[in-house]
Amino acid sequence: MIKRTFAEVSAMSCGTAAAADYDGSLLIQGVSKDTRTLQPGNLYVPLIGESFDGHRFLDDAIAKGASASLWQRDHELPPHSIPFILVEDTLAALQQLAKNYRSELDIRIVGITGSNGKTTTKDMTASVLSTTFKVHKTLGNYNNHIGLPLTLLQLEEDTAVAVLEMGMSGRGEIRFLSELAEPEVVVITNIGEAHLLQLGSREEIARAKTEILAGLQQDGTLIYFGDEPLIDKVLPELQAADGMKAHRYDRVRFGASSNNEWFPVETKTDTAGTHFRLNRMESTEFYIPLLGFHNVINSLAAIAVGVHFGVPSTAIADGLKKSVMTSMRIELMKAPSGLTILNDAYNASPASMKAALKLLVELTGYSRKIAVLGDMLELGDQEVEFHREIGRILNPKEIDRVFVFGQLSEHLADEASRKYPPGKVVVFDDKNRLAQALASFTASDDIVLVKGSRGMKLEQVVALLQQV
Ligand code: ATP
Ligand code: MG
Repeated sequence: MIKRTFAEVSAMSCGTAAAADYDGSLLIQGVSKDTRTLQPGNLYVPLIGESFDGHRFLDDAIAKGASASLWQRDHELPPHSIPFILVEDTLAALQQLAKNYRSELDIRIVGITGSNGKTTTKDMTASVLSTTFKVHKTLGNYNNHIGLPLTLLQLEEDTAVAVLEMGMSGRGEIRFLSELAEPEVVVITNIGEAHLLQLGSREEIARAKTEILAGLQQDGTLIYFGDEPLIDKVLPELQAADGMKAHRYDRVRFGASSNNEWFPVETKTDTAGTHFRLNRMESTEFYIPLLGFHNVINSLAAIAVGVHFGVPSTAIADGLKKSVMTSMRIELMKAPSGLTILNDAYNASPASMKAALKLLVELTGYSRKIAVLGDMLELGDQEVEFHREIGRILNPKEIDRVFVFGQLSEHLADEASRKYPPGKVVVFDDKNRLAQALASFTASDDIVLVKGSRGMKLEQVVALLQQV
């Protein structure tokens, strides 16, 4: 984490010390925006949100041992019991501090964006690079204009590589994050439909993701999902933009198709993970502790980053096998009844819904397969069509029954019921009844996929199944 004197931190955050009698040599270690997790010696950064103002928690910060605090000039200055750095805007000062700290470090940075799979790819990439370097990765989902600066300020002077997740909900955000971090390698995992509501079209989402090139170092490397034509379509536009014309970088593509530099040639799933080989490094067998072909694709990005950094193939395979995931988003669980649950209730978008259904179809050894699907939210004015499309890909030969929950999912059910025998596609408006219906007709050798958007809270169905 950052270790600098009070005088240095004042300069790096473009602020001024609030009093003349401060001790400029006071050591500041680390930064915190949250008094609940603040550690002694931290600089306290009081951020202002829609419903809170961090300035109000200064006493807590002091009680927890904050060494100093940023302070926004438009707030009345309290009595000085710790030194203050006065700034126009505490968030902008945090970002400036992070940018300056980053530029003082001798570190190589990998930036990862995309609609789906960022955290998974970040975790696998960090694991691959950790075999050879001292690596720091974004913790949790600290991937935005607040989380990314905080992550940069966590870096140690001797960290060799940082693997950073970059998220967004609109145009300009990824550009900002990338320019802050100045990565040597950037990854675009895919273009999905998340944030379609804010951005309007998938092409516009592709533009927002390719903004990650804005901060890429000269002669850096772009590693991207080559099966998505929209990325290739929008890249030249970006290159033509002001300030980008002389920007040189290498391109490496990965994906399922053999047009890519990296693609898998043999994949085999067991109950806990996936084995595969590649079009290159033919003698190496890879294994990831994750299910789903989409995760094989995500791992190709991690492999390509490893190759860029000169990690030997055996170490890459070893790193992938030992990947520590932030959270198992798709989790294979057993209910007390013996029923297998494929729990993917964390979130859903059309791309991740298709990926999860594909996984359900691919898994073998089960008697019947049931999909419990909830609404995919925030998809904009095409939301009905997205649900209809999922309904159309459901096939009674592959998935025996479909239970849906939510108003949008009724469109999905409507489409699916054209192919399914009567009674096999059922719409519920109550999660309890849905869980009861499932429990009463499933047997121990069946498998149930549970998936919906965060707002649908389908984990409640999983919890109910765990009780019966
Ligand atoms: P967030 O925007 O919440 O930070 P993320 O991009 O970090 O998401 P992950 O947390 O890695 O994504 O994965 C979330 C879910 O997205 C997974 O459970 C899976 O269902 C789906 N997913 C992951 N990778 C892909 C992919 N390459 N294609 C489609 N769906 C994917
Ligand atoms: Mg994430």
